[in-house]
Amino acid sequence: MPNSATDHLGQLMDRFEVRTHQRTEFIDITRQVEEIVARTRVDAGLCTIYVPHTTAACTINEHADPDVARDMLMEINKIVPFDDNYRHDEGNSAAHIKSSLFGVRHSVPIENGRLMLGTWQGVFFCEFDGPRTRQVLVQIVGDR
Ligand code: ZN
Repeated sequence: MPNSATDHLGQLMDRFEVRTHQRTEFIDITRQVEEIVARTRVDAGLCTIYVPHTTAACTINEHADPDVARDMLMEINKIVPFDDNYRHDEGNSAAHIKSSLFGVRHSVPIENGRLMLGTWQGVFFCEFDGPRTRQVLVQIVGDR
């Protein structure tokens, strides 16, 4: 017997792979996230993008001009240098630090079945220790 109180509630967890090609790289994943949102048929709710890695992250910023992501990468690589007498013997402390600075989770409201991103906003996967094959998890909760 379905619970009528929760019949309208849409919930979905999905994931996709991102193949990175550089040591540090921003990859626009807006389209993949939007496709998952469309599949859920959730009309109003919240979409959480989660990166289950310690040397990668996600961010939301301008994706109309690809130079913005390039500039962010250039500056973060200066702020957190690859080598700096780090103690972690895996040799990728810079990537761990960048992951925590950017964060591994972002939530975007959903309205009328669409991600409420601003005109210039896009969702980026942030690679800080590539190249690798990475995972992105997308969890959507809301009303159908
Ligand atoms: Zn490490």
